[in-house]
Amino acid sequence: MSLRYRSGLVTLIGRPNVGKSTLLNRLVGSKISIISPRPQTTRHRILGIKTGKHTQAVYIDTPGLQAGGIKQINRYMGRVSRGSVAGVDCVVLIITAQGWRPEDRPALSLVHNQSCPVILAINKIDKLKDKSKLLPLIEQSMKKMDFAAVVPISAKTGANLVDLENVIYTHLPMQPPIYPPDQLTDRGERFLAAELVREQVFRSFGQEVPYAAAVEVEQFQRTKDLVHVNATIWVEKAGQKAILIGKKGARLKLIGQRARLAMQELFDSKVYLELWVKVRKGWSDNARALRSLGYSEED
Ligand code: GDP
Ligand code: MG
Repeated sequence: MSLRYRSGLVTLIGRPNVGKSTLLNRLVGSKISIISPRPQTTRHRILGIKTGKHTQAVYIDTPGLQAGGIKQINRYMGRVSRGSVAGVDCVVLIITAQGWRPEDRPALSLVHNQSCPVILAINKIDKLKDKSKLLPLIEQSMKKMDFAAVVPISAKTGANLVDLENVIYTHLPMQPPIYPPDQLTDRGERFLAAELVREQVFRSFGQEVPYAAAVEVEQFQRTKDLVHVNATIWVEKAGQKAILIGKKGARLKLIGQRARLAMQELFDSKVYLELWVKVRKGWSDNARALRSLGYSEED
């Protein structure tokens, strides 16, 4: 190992839907954080580890920071985000090329008093038709706080991500890698399997169901040529259960098919997935139910 090796923790922070999870997956090159067009898809703190010859960046994806939300699940997500900027080597604050919004304020004020360097990433530049708007936005941003750098990017197309990474690396301390070089995340396969099911639930439905759903993997068994997954989708009400299952089970079948394909890709194996839907009243506002579904403060 080179003596000049750099490694460290990098937190990705920003309001819901700016593209934090997309960026994490893109940087790591593997789908470890789930994504959907809906805000608040990410509920947990998720690590993505990118190891190079001379560098290891350990990215921390966080639930979006936002004002409001009175349920226990919202408060849990807020605490996870706030806890993720303490003691890291560098923070990447993300906004979009559409410009600063009032919703960006909680994240900005959180990083404002950080002692570590804060890099501003302006994401979704692929959506910006008039590129001349970028320069004024960069200038306006520099007035907000003393950013270590401002980098326009597209997490979707990959534009400028190498520039962003190179800036990040300059802020990592010289030390050996923190994780083994082949490790991509700190999460186990069981957790990742549950998340891939939850992603499909988020993608398949309108407002009501996704936020009321949690996924628990009861069985995860890897044999030589098959991964067997047994999972339950918990919802809050019987009506949501009916919607999730759909006519003759069609909805649930589609969710299962798509989640299974994503698992096959991630686990590099054939997957057999069994899915159940069950009702647990009020789980999202019940501290004990939250813990039993994996929303635990130690995460
Ligand atoms: P998060 O809530 O901050 O983690 O945001 P996600 O990563 O879940 O992304 C939210 C939505 O924005 C998804 O529909 C993504 O496909 C989309 N998205 C993320 N990055 C980009 C980007 O660079 N360009 C475009 N056009 N869309 C993006
Ligand atoms: Mg996310």
